[in-house]
Amino acid sequence: LTIADRALEPAAALRRLGSPRFWRAVRRWERFVERSERWSPEQLAAYQLDRLRAVVAHAVEHVPYYRNLLEGSVPASLDDLRRLPLLEKRILQERIDELVAQNVPQSERYYYTTAGSSGTPVGFWHDLDQQHRERAFMRAQWRRVGYTEGARSAVLRGNIVERGLWQHDFVNGTLMMSSYSLTLARLPAYVARLRQLKPKYLQAYPSSAAIVARHMLDTGEPPIAGLRAVLCGSETLFPEQRTLIEQAFGARVYSWYGHSEAVALGGECEHDTAIHLFPQYGYVELVDEEGEAVTERGATGEIVATSLHARAMPLIRYRTGDLAVLGAQACERCGRPYQLLERIEGRVQEFVVTSTGRRISMTAINMHSPIFDNVFQFRFAQERPGEVSLRIVPKPSYSPEADDAQITRALMQKLGDDMALRLELVDEIPRGGRGKYRFLDQMLDLGA
Ligand SMILES: [Zn+2]
Repeated sequence: LTIADRALEPAAALRRLGSPRFWRAVRRWERFVERSERWSPEQLAAYQLDRLRAVVAHAVEHVPYYRNLLEGSVPASLDDLRRLPLLEKRILQERIDELVAQNVPQSERYYYTTAGSSGTPVGFWHDLDQQHRERAFMRAQWRRVGYTEGARSAVLRGNIVERGLWQHDFVNGTLMMSSYSLTLARLPAYVARLRQLKPKYLQAYPSSAAIVARHMLDTGEPPIAGLRAVLCGSETLFPEQRTLIEQAFGARVYSWYGHSEAVALGGECEHDTAIHLFPQYGYVELVDEEGEAVTERGATGEIVATSLHARAMPLIRYRTGDLAVLGAQACERCGRPYQLLERIEGRVQEFVVTSTGRRISMTAINMHSPIFDNVFQFRFAQERPGEVSLRIVPKPSYSPEADDAQITRALMQKLGDDMALRLELVDEIPRGGRGKYRFLDQMLDLGA
Protein backbone atom coordinates (compact mmCIF):
# COMPACT_ATOMS: atom_id res chain seq x y z
CA LEU A 1 0.00 0.00 0.00
CA THR A 2 1.21 3.46 -0.79
CA ILE A 3 0.71 6.43 1.48
CA ALA A 4 -1.99 7.84 -0.81
CA ASP A 5 -3.89 4.57 -0.52
CA ARG A 6 -3.26 4.33 3.18
CA ALA A 7 -4.66 7.78 3.87
CA LEU A 8 -8.01 6.45 2.74
CA GLU A 9 -8.04 3.41 4.93
CA PRO A 10 -9.61 3.21 8.34
CA ALA A 11 -7.42 3.49 11.41
CA ALA A 12 -8.25 -0.10 12.29
CA ALA A 13 -6.98 -1.37 8.96
CA LEU A 14 -3.82 0.72 9.32
CA ARG A 15 -3.02 -0.77 12.70
CA ARG A 16 -3.34 -4.18 11.16
CA LEU A 17 -1.00 -3.37 8.28
CA GLY A 18 2.27 -5.10 8.99
CA SER A 19 0.71 -7.24 11.70
CA PRO A 20 1.09 -11.03 11.54
CA ARG A 21 -2.65 -11.34 11.09
CA PHE A 22 -2.60 -9.07 8.05
CA TRP A 23 0.15 -11.12 6.41
CA ARG A 24 -1.48 -14.44 7.28
CA ALA A 25 -4.57 -13.27 5.43
CA VAL A 26 -2.49 -12.14 2.44
CA ARG A 27 -0.73 -15.49 2.32
CA ARG A 28 -4.03 -17.34 2.47
CA TRP A 29 -5.10 -15.51 -0.71
CA GLU A 30 -1.68 -16.06 -2.27
CA ARG A 31 -2.01 -19.79 -1.81
CA PHE A 32 -5.45 -19.62 -3.40
CA VAL A 33 -4.06 -17.73 -6.43
CA GLU A 34 -1.18 -20.19 -6.84
CA ARG A 35 -3.50 -23.16 -6.61
CA SER A 36 -6.19 -21.80 -8.90
CA GLU A 37 -3.68 -20.71 -11.57
CA ARG A 38 -3.26 -24.41 -12.28
CA TRP A 39 -6.97 -25.21 -12.56
CA SER A 40 -8.43 -26.46 -15.83
CA PRO A 41 -10.82 -24.23 -17.83
CA GLU A 42 -13.71 -26.41 -16.57
CA GLN A 43 -12.68 -25.98 -12.93
CA LEU A 44 -12.37 -22.23 -13.38
CA ALA A 45 -15.78 -21.97 -15.06
CA ALA A 46 -17.39 -24.01 -12.30
CA TYR A 47 -15.75 -21.84 -9.65
CA GLN A 48 -16.93 -18.64 -11.37
CA LEU A 49 -20.53 -19.79 -11.63
CA ASP A 50 -20.53 -20.97 -8.05
CA ARG A 51 -19.16 -17.65 -6.77
CA LEU A 52 -21.44 -15.55 -8.99
CA ARG A 53 -24.49 -17.38 -7.69
CA ALA A 54 -23.29 -16.89 -4.13
CA VAL A 55 -22.68 -13.16 -4.67
CA VAL A 56 -26.10 -12.62 -6.29
CA ALA A 57 -27.89 -14.71 -3.65
CA HIS A 58 -26.18 -12.67 -0.91
CA ALA A 59 -27.13 -9.42 -2.68
CA VAL A 60 -30.77 -10.47 -3.13
CA GLU A 61 -31.02 -11.37 0.52
CA HIS A 62 -29.10 -8.53 2.19
CA VAL A 63 -28.75 -5.57 -0.21
CA PRO A 64 -31.91 -3.40 -0.46
CA TYR A 65 -31.14 -2.20 -3.99
CA TYR A 66 -30.86 -5.75 -5.33
CA ARG A 67 -33.70 -7.10 -3.22
CA ASN A 68 -36.04 -4.69 -5.01
CA LEU A 69 -34.43 -4.95 -8.43
CA LEU A 70 -34.12 -8.73 -8.73
CA GLU A 71 -37.22 -9.69 -6.75
CA GLY A 72 -35.61 -12.73 -5.25
CA SER A 73 -34.31 -14.33 -8.43
CA VAL A 74 -30.82 -15.83 -8.48
CA PRO A 75 -29.25 -16.73 -11.87
CA ALA A 76 -28.86 -20.44 -12.53
CA SER A 77 -26.40 -19.97 -15.41
CA LEU A 78 -24.08 -17.39 -16.94
CA ASP A 79 -26.77 -16.70 -19.56
CA ASP A 80 -29.16 -15.78 -16.74
CA LEU A 81 -26.55 -13.50 -15.22
CA ARG A 82 -26.04 -11.73 -18.52
CA ARG A 83 -29.73 -10.83 -18.53
CA LEU A 84 -29.48 -8.91 -15.24
CA PRO A 85 -29.49 -5.11 -15.57
CA LEU A 86 -26.20 -3.22 -15.83
CA LEU A 87 -25.15 -1.17 -12.82
CA GLU A 88 -24.37 2.45 -13.71
CA LYS A 89 -21.81 4.53 -11.82
CA ARG A 90 -24.57 7.12 -11.33
CA ILE A 91 -26.50 4.64 -9.15
CA LEU A 92 -23.42 4.27 -6.95
CA GLN A 93 -23.24 8.02 -6.54
CA GLU A 94 -26.93 8.52 -5.86
CA ARG A 95 -28.00 5.44 -3.93
CA ILE A 96 -24.93 4.18 -2.10
CA ASP A 97 -26.82 3.46 1.14
CA GLU A 98 -29.14 1.03 -0.63
CA LEU A 99 -26.14 -0.83 -2.06
CA VAL A 100 -24.58 -1.75 1.27
CA ALA A 101 -25.27 -5.24 2.62
CA GLN A 102 -27.26 -4.97 5.84
CA ASN A 103 -25.58 -8.01 7.41
CA VAL A 104 -21.99 -6.71 7.12
CA PRO A 105 -21.18 -4.52 10.16
CA GLN A 106 -19.22 -1.30 9.70
CA SER A 107 -16.24 -2.83 11.52
CA GLU A 108 -15.86 -5.32 8.65
CA ARG A 109 -15.82 -2.79 5.82
CA TYR A 110 -14.03 0.40 4.83
CA TYR A 111 -14.95 3.37 2.70
CA TYR A 112 -12.99 4.25 -0.41
CA THR A 113 -13.36 7.04 -2.94
CA THR A 114 -12.02 7.50 -6.43
CA ALA A 115 -11.85 10.70 -8.45
CA GLY A 116 -13.97 9.29 -11.28
CA SER A 117 -13.32 9.93 -14.96
CA SER A 118 -15.37 13.12 -15.23
CA GLY A 119 -14.07 14.48 -11.95
CA THR A 120 -17.15 13.46 -9.97
CA PRO A 121 -16.01 11.42 -6.97
CA VAL A 122 -17.41 7.92 -6.59
CA GLY A 123 -17.37 6.32 -3.15
CA PHE A 124 -17.96 2.69 -2.18
CA TRP A 125 -17.49 0.19 0.59
CA HIS A 126 -14.99 -2.67 0.53
CA ASP A 127 -14.70 -5.72 2.78
CA LEU A 128 -11.63 -5.50 5.03
CA ASP A 129 -10.47 -8.70 3.32
CA GLN A 130 -10.26 -6.83 -0.01
CA GLN A 131 -6.85 -5.41 1.03
CA HIS A 132 -5.41 -8.89 1.49
CA ARG A 133 -6.97 -10.16 -1.72
CA GLU A 134 -5.71 -7.20 -3.76
CA ARG A 135 -2.18 -7.52 -2.48
CA ALA A 136 -2.08 -11.27 -3.13
CA PHE A 137 -3.37 -10.99 -6.71
CA MET A 138 -1.09 -8.04 -7.49
CA ARG A 139 1.99 -9.85 -6.17
CA ALA A 140 1.07 -12.89 -8.28
CA GLN A 141 1.06 -10.65 -11.35
CA TRP A 142 4.30 -8.85 -10.58
CA ARG A 143 6.05 -12.15 -9.89
CA ARG A 144 5.70 -12.83 -13.62
CA VAL A 145 8.46 -10.27 -14.19
CA GLY A 146 10.50 -11.47 -11.23
CA TYR A 147 9.22 -9.12 -8.53
CA THR A 148 9.53 -10.36 -4.96
CA GLU A 149 8.18 -8.69 -1.81
CA GLY A 150 10.57 -5.94 -0.71
CA ALA A 151 12.58 -5.75 -3.96
CA ARG A 152 14.23 -2.32 -4.18
CA SER A 153 11.69 -0.09 -5.92
CA ALA A 154 10.98 3.50 -6.74
CA VAL A 155 7.36 4.63 -6.89
CA LEU A 156 6.05 7.36 -9.17
CA ARG A 157 2.32 6.93 -8.73
CA GLY A 158 0.78 10.12 -7.49
CA ASN A 159 1.74 9.75 -3.85
CA ILE A 160 1.86 12.91 -1.81
CA VAL A 161 5.44 13.55 -0.75
CA GLU A 162 5.41 15.84 2.24
CA ARG A 163 8.79 17.51 1.81
CA GLY A 164 11.05 17.71 -1.21
CA LEU A 165 10.72 15.51 -4.26
CA TRP A 166 10.83 12.07 -2.63
CA GLN A 167 10.78 10.23 0.66
CA HIS A 168 11.21 6.69 1.92
CA ASP A 169 8.15 4.58 2.60
CA PHE A 170 9.40 2.40 5.42
CA VAL A 171 6.36 0.09 5.48
CA ASN A 172 6.95 -1.03 1.91
CA GLY A 173 10.66 -0.31 1.67
CA THR A 174 10.25 1.86 -1.42
CA LEU A 175 11.33 5.34 -2.45
CA MET A 176 8.24 7.39 -3.19
CA MET A 177 8.81 10.11 -5.71
CA SER A 178 6.38 12.96 -6.31
CA SER A 179 4.47 12.87 -9.60
CA TYR A 180 3.50 16.48 -9.07
CA SER A 181 6.95 18.01 -9.52
CA LEU A 182 8.01 16.57 -12.87
CA THR A 183 9.07 19.89 -14.36
CA LEU A 184 11.82 20.46 -16.92
CA ALA A 185 14.00 22.06 -14.25
CA ARG A 186 13.67 19.18 -11.80
CA LEU A 187 13.86 16.19 -14.13
CA PRO A 188 17.69 15.93 -13.98
CA ALA A 189 17.42 15.53 -10.20
CA TYR A 190 14.90 12.69 -10.59
CA VAL A 191 17.16 10.81 -12.99
CA ALA A 192 20.19 11.33 -10.74
CA ARG A 193 18.26 10.01 -7.74
CA LEU A 194 17.18 6.92 -9.68
CA ARG A 195 20.79 6.23 -10.69
CA GLN A 196 21.87 6.53 -7.08
CA LEU A 197 19.06 4.26 -5.82
CA LYS A 198 19.55 1.58 -8.53
CA PRO A 199 15.98 0.26 -8.20
CA LYS A 200 15.09 -3.13 -9.60
CA TYR A 201 11.54 -1.97 -10.22
CA LEU A 202 9.87 1.31 -10.96
CA GLN A 203 6.16 1.39 -10.10
CA ALA A 204 4.70 4.23 -12.12
CA TYR A 205 1.76 5.88 -13.77
CA PRO A 206 2.56 5.57 -17.49
CA SER A 207 2.25 9.35 -17.92
CA SER A 208 4.81 10.01 -15.16
CA ALA A 209 7.26 7.38 -16.41
CA ALA A 210 6.88 8.75 -19.95
CA ILE A 211 7.82 12.28 -18.86
CA VAL A 212 11.03 10.99 -17.26
CA ALA A 213 11.70 8.71 -20.26
CA ARG A 214 11.25 11.50 -22.74
CA HIS A 215 13.68 13.67 -20.80
CA MET A 216 16.26 10.85 -20.67
CA LEU A 217 16.10 10.33 -24.42
CA ASP A 218 16.16 14.08 -25.16
CA THR A 219 19.29 14.59 -23.07
CA GLY A 220 21.07 11.39 -24.11
CA GLU A 221 20.88 9.77 -20.66
CA PRO A 222 21.67 6.04 -20.76
CA PRO A 223 19.18 3.51 -19.24
CA ILE A 224 19.03 2.95 -15.46
CA ALA A 225 21.41 0.06 -14.74
CA GLY A 226 19.88 -2.99 -13.04
CA LEU A 227 16.25 -1.98 -13.63
CA ARG A 228 14.20 -5.09 -14.45
CA ALA A 229 10.77 -3.71 -15.18
CA VAL A 230 8.62 -0.62 -15.10
CA LEU A 231 5.31 -1.63 -13.50
CA CYS A 232 2.60 0.52 -15.05
CA GLY A 233 -1.02 0.77 -13.97
CA SER A 234 -3.98 2.99 -13.08
CA GLU A 235 -3.99 4.99 -16.30
CA THR A 236 -4.41 3.96 -19.92
CA LEU A 237 -1.02 2.89 -21.26
CA PHE A 238 -0.76 4.19 -24.82
CA PRO A 239 1.37 2.12 -27.24
CA GLU A 240 3.81 4.99 -27.83
CA GLN A 241 4.31 5.34 -24.10
CA ARG A 242 5.35 1.69 -23.83
CA THR A 243 7.91 2.12 -26.61
CA LEU A 244 9.25 5.33 -25.13
CA ILE A 245 9.57 3.99 -21.58
CA GLU A 246 11.21 0.71 -22.66
CA GLN A 247 13.65 2.56 -24.87
CA ALA A 248 14.70 5.08 -22.23
CA PHE A 249 14.81 2.83 -19.17
CA GLY A 250 16.16 -0.24 -20.96
CA ALA A 251 13.63 -2.44 -19.16
CA ARG A 252 10.35 -4.10 -19.92
CA VAL A 253 7.09 -2.31 -19.27
CA TYR A 254 4.67 -4.56 -17.37
CA SER A 255 1.10 -3.30 -17.24
CA TRP A 256 -2.01 -4.41 -15.47
CA TYR A 257 -5.65 -3.43 -15.44
CA GLY A 258 -7.78 -2.97 -12.37
CA HIS A 259 -9.72 -0.29 -10.57
CA SER A 260 -10.64 0.88 -7.12
CA GLU A 261 -14.07 -0.75 -7.39
CA ALA A 262 -12.23 -4.11 -7.46
CA VAL A 263 -14.59 -5.88 -9.86
CA ALA A 264 -11.93 -7.06 -12.31
CA LEU A 265 -8.17 -7.51 -12.40
CA GLY A 266 -5.71 -8.71 -15.00
CA GLY A 267 -2.22 -8.14 -16.30
CA GLU A 268 0.39 -9.11 -18.83
CA CYS A 269 2.13 -12.47 -18.57
CA GLU A 270 5.78 -13.44 -18.75
CA HIS A 271 5.74 -13.45 -22.56
CA ASP A 272 2.85 -11.37 -23.81
CA THR A 273 1.42 -7.88 -23.42
CA ALA A 274 -2.26 -8.86 -23.60
CA ILE A 275 -4.19 -8.40 -20.36
CA HIS A 276 -4.84 -11.84 -18.78
CA LEU A 277 -8.01 -11.42 -16.72
CA PHE A 278 -8.06 -13.34 -13.43
CA PRO A 279 -11.23 -15.50 -13.69
CA GLN A 280 -11.03 -16.17 -9.96
CA TYR A 281 -11.22 -12.43 -9.13
CA GLY A 282 -14.10 -11.09 -11.21
CA TYR A 283 -16.43 -12.07 -14.01
CA VAL A 284 -15.84 -9.82 -17.02
CA GLU A 285 -18.05 -9.17 -20.04
CA LEU A 286 -17.57 -6.79 -22.96
CA VAL A 287 -20.73 -5.04 -24.15
CA ASP A 288 -21.51 -2.70 -27.05
CA GLU A 289 -23.37 0.61 -26.85
CA GLU A 290 -26.72 -1.20 -26.77
CA GLY A 291 -25.55 -3.42 -23.94
CA GLU A 292 -25.28 -6.50 -26.19
CA ALA A 293 -22.41 -8.95 -25.67
CA VAL A 294 -19.24 -8.39 -27.73
CA THR A 295 -17.89 -11.87 -28.47
CA GLU A 296 -15.81 -11.47 -31.62
CA ARG A 297 -12.06 -11.42 -31.18
CA GLY A 298 -10.63 -8.04 -32.14
CA ALA A 299 -13.90 -6.18 -31.47
CA THR A 300 -14.12 -3.35 -28.96
CA GLY A 301 -16.58 -3.14 -26.08
CA GLU A 302 -17.04 -1.63 -22.67
CA ILE A 303 -15.82 -3.68 -19.73
CA VAL A 304 -18.68 -4.74 -17.47
CA ALA A 305 -17.67 -6.77 -14.44
CA THR A 306 -18.94 -8.51 -11.32
CA SER A 307 -16.80 -9.15 -8.26
CA LEU A 308 -16.71 -12.79 -7.19
CA HIS A 309 -15.89 -11.97 -3.58
CA ALA A 310 -17.44 -8.68 -2.44
CA ARG A 311 -19.85 -8.92 0.49
CA ALA A 312 -20.06 -5.38 1.91
CA MET A 313 -21.12 -3.89 -1.40
CA PRO A 314 -21.53 -6.40 -4.21
CA LEU A 315 -21.38 -4.73 -7.62
CA ILE A 316 -23.17 -6.83 -10.23
CA ARG A 317 -22.57 -6.17 -13.93
CA TYR A 318 -20.90 -2.88 -13.11
CA ARG A 319 -20.22 -0.57 -16.08
CA THR A 320 -16.59 0.45 -15.68
CA GLY A 321 -16.53 3.03 -18.48
CA ASP A 322 -13.36 1.39 -19.85
CA LEU A 323 -13.16 0.16 -23.43
CA ALA A 324 -11.10 -2.88 -24.41
CA VAL A 325 -10.39 -5.05 -27.44
CA LEU A 326 -11.36 -8.69 -26.97
CA GLY A 327 -8.52 -11.22 -27.27
CA ALA A 328 -8.26 -15.01 -27.25
CA GLN A 329 -9.87 -17.21 -24.59
CA ALA A 330 -6.53 -18.52 -23.39
CA CYS A 331 -2.89 -17.50 -23.76
CA GLU A 332 -0.95 -19.78 -26.08
CA ARG A 333 2.34 -18.45 -24.81
CA CYS A 334 2.02 -18.98 -21.05
CA GLY A 335 -0.80 -21.54 -21.16
CA ARG A 336 -3.09 -19.82 -18.66
CA PRO A 337 -6.72 -20.50 -19.59
CA TYR A 338 -7.68 -16.87 -18.94
CA GLN A 339 -9.74 -14.56 -21.15
CA LEU A 340 -7.38 -12.10 -22.80
CA LEU A 341 -7.97 -8.46 -23.65
CA GLU A 342 -5.69 -7.52 -26.53
CA ARG A 343 -5.47 -4.03 -25.13
CA ILE A 344 -7.31 -1.45 -23.07
CA GLU A 345 -8.50 1.30 -25.41
CA GLY A 346 -9.02 3.84 -22.67
CA ARG A 347 -12.00 5.26 -20.96
CA VAL A 348 -15.26 6.15 -22.66
CA GLN A 349 -14.46 9.72 -21.62
CA GLU A 350 -11.10 9.57 -23.46
CA PHE A 351 -12.71 10.31 -26.81
CA VAL A 352 -13.34 13.59 -28.58
CA VAL A 353 -16.62 14.12 -30.44
CA THR A 354 -16.79 15.86 -33.81
CA SER A 355 -19.67 18.05 -35.02
CA THR A 356 -21.04 15.12 -37.03
CA GLY A 357 -20.93 12.88 -33.94
CA ARG A 358 -17.82 10.85 -34.79
CA ARG A 359 -15.81 9.75 -31.76
CA ILE A 360 -12.03 9.80 -31.98
CA SER A 361 -9.98 7.91 -29.40
CA MET A 362 -7.00 9.52 -27.71
CA THR A 363 -5.17 6.36 -28.74
CA ALA A 364 -5.44 7.52 -32.36
CA ILE A 365 -3.53 10.68 -31.55
CA ASN A 366 0.11 9.77 -31.18
CA MET A 367 1.01 11.53 -27.96
CA HIS A 368 4.72 11.08 -28.46
CA SER A 369 4.94 12.12 -32.08
CA PRO A 370 7.88 14.35 -33.13
CA ILE A 371 5.38 17.19 -33.67
CA PHE A 372 5.45 17.59 -29.89
CA ASP A 373 9.26 17.76 -29.66
CA ASN A 374 9.18 21.33 -28.38
CA VAL A 375 6.26 20.71 -26.08
CA PHE A 376 6.76 19.79 -22.45
CA GLN A 377 3.15 18.82 -21.72
CA PHE A 378 -0.23 19.19 -23.32
CA ARG A 379 -3.85 18.47 -22.71
CA PHE A 380 -6.95 18.57 -24.87
CA ALA A 381 -10.19 19.97 -23.54
CA GLN A 382 -13.66 19.67 -25.03
CA GLU A 383 -16.77 21.55 -23.95
CA ARG A 384 -18.83 21.37 -27.16
CA PRO A 385 -19.06 18.73 -29.90
CA GLY A 386 -16.96 19.72 -32.90
CA GLU A 387 -14.61 21.97 -30.93
CA VAL A 388 -11.49 21.01 -29.07
CA SER A 389 -8.80 23.13 -27.48
CA LEU A 390 -5.22 22.07 -26.90
CA ARG A 391 -3.35 23.57 -23.96
CA ILE A 392 0.39 23.45 -24.37
CA VAL A 393 3.21 23.94 -21.87
CA PRO A 394 6.02 24.92 -24.26
CA LYS A 395 9.71 24.12 -23.87
CA PRO A 396 12.08 27.10 -24.25
CA SER A 397 12.72 25.87 -27.80
CA TYR A 398 9.03 26.22 -28.78
CA SER A 399 8.32 28.64 -31.63
CA PRO A 400 4.75 29.98 -31.55
CA GLU A 401 4.70 30.32 -35.34
CA ALA A 402 6.43 27.18 -36.60
CA ASP A 403 5.32 24.79 -33.86
CA ASP A 404 1.74 26.05 -33.76
CA ALA A 405 1.46 25.51 -37.49
CA GLN A 406 3.09 22.08 -37.43
CA ILE A 407 0.94 20.79 -34.56
CA THR A 408 -2.27 22.19 -36.04
CA ARG A 409 -1.54 20.66 -39.44
CA ALA A 410 -0.73 17.21 -38.07
CA LEU A 411 -3.66 17.09 -35.65
CA MET A 412 -6.21 18.35 -38.17
CA GLN A 413 -5.30 15.43 -40.43
CA LYS A 414 -6.33 13.09 -37.63
CA LEU A 415 -9.30 15.05 -36.33
CA GLY A 416 -10.91 15.81 -39.71
CA ASP A 417 -12.98 18.65 -41.19
CA ASP A 418 -15.79 18.28 -38.69
CA MET A 419 -13.61 19.45 -35.81
CA ALA A 420 -12.25 22.88 -34.95
CA LEU A 421 -8.97 23.07 -33.03
CA ARG A 422 -7.68 25.95 -30.93
CA LEU A 423 -4.17 26.10 -29.44
CA GLU A 424 -3.39 27.86 -26.18
CA LEU A 425 0.02 28.27 -24.54
CA VAL A 426 -0.02 27.93 -20.73
CA ASP A 427 2.58 27.79 -17.94
CA GLU A 428 1.34 24.65 -16.28
CA ILE A 429 -1.23 21.88 -16.52
CA PRO A 430 -2.55 20.71 -13.17
CA ARG A 431 -2.81 16.98 -12.47
CA GLY A 432 -6.13 15.37 -11.67
CA GLY A 433 -7.23 13.31 -8.69
CA ARG A 434 -4.44 11.18 -7.14
CA GLY A 435 -1.89 12.86 -9.42
CA LYS A 436 -3.09 11.01 -12.49
CA TYR A 437 -2.55 12.66 -15.80
CA ARG A 438 -5.23 12.93 -18.44
CA PHE A 439 -4.52 13.88 -22.02
CA LEU A 440 -8.12 15.01 -22.36
CA ASP A 441 -10.45 17.01 -20.18
CA GLN A 442 -13.73 15.76 -21.61
CA MET A 443 -16.50 17.95 -20.24
CA LEU A 444 -19.23 16.40 -22.39
CA ASP A 445 -20.94 13.43 -20.80
CA LEU A 446 -20.12 10.49 -23.05
CA GLY A 447 -21.98 8.01 -20.94
CA ALA A 448 -19.56 6.93 -18.21
ZN1 LIG B 1 0.23 -15.47 -21.32
